Amino acid sequence: MTSRVALVTGGTGGIGTAICKQLHDQGHRVASNYRDAAKAQLWQQQMRQAGYDIGIFQGDVADTAQSAAMVAAVEQELGPVEILVNNAGITRDTTFHRMHAEQWHEVINTNLNSVFNVTRPVIEGMRRRAWGRVIQISSINGLKGQYGQANYAAAKAGMHGFTISLARENAAFGITVNTISPGYVATDMVMAVPEEVRAKIIADIPTGRLGRPEEIAYAVAFLVAEQAAWITGSNLDINGGHHMGW
Ligand code: NDP
Repeated sequence: MTSRVALVTGGTGGIGTAICKQLHDQGHRVASNYRDAAKAQLWQQQMRQAGYDIGIFQGDVADTAQSAAMVAAVEQELGPVEILVNNAGITRDTTFHRMHAEQWHEVINTNLNSVFNVTRPVIEGMRRRAWGRVIQISSINGLKGQYGQANYAAAKAGMHGFTISLARENAAFGITVNTISPGYVATDMVMAVPEEVRAKIIADIPTGRLGRPEEIAYAVAFLVAEQAAWITGSNLDINGGHHMGW
């Protein structure tokens, strides 16, 4: 298998860590970004102890200039980014009639504008080299909506429009662009939800459990494979049957 350079945003989080490991296991050279140097160094150390050599580069994906500098640093150290996983994300949940502008903008900037900030610096190189994989980690709630998540659902739904447009623009250049929409996965993001709310969510999932980060990472590996060259502009739901649609 060809070893490629993969950039996974939010690699230090629950799903991101599993994606970094999965891509590393496949022989790719993997990089991620960080905001908090101390936290990132601890993460990198833990990953090294587990046998994973993941490069970490400073950059807030909500910031256009920082994202461009982060991509430039990755490319200088590892080479051109061939696989990009737009995974970094946050929640600032509250019902819309109580939502402040900051809660709206923070989520849109981190979860949606980040997709512009990080993809824009890599797309021209992918086109020149005639190979690329761009994957957005969206959410079940971008498809079905969620109480208290108008900001998050808007950003996550926006990722789909981005995916299908970018897929069209770049299909002739050997670049595939896809979205993965995870259901509820047992990471810090979901464990921060009050236990009684989580119990209600789980009761609604046909498989009767939360997802595992590795189950999302497996789908990333599938879409990254050379054999997945004809899968583009698609959305892959991974949610234990929680939301099924056509
Ligand atoms: P985590 O909270 O565990 O991790 C989020 C990651 O994103 C962290 O590494 C965090 O870094 C990073 N991040 C957040 N904001 C920024 C920023 N401005 N710049 C750079 N990095 C940033 O979340 P999950 O692993 O659970 O989620 C990963 C993705 O999957 C998200 O996009 C989320 O919306 C999506 N998702 C998650 C689901 C779940 O059930 N967990 C369900 C559906 C979708 P830092 O440590 O610096 O904050």
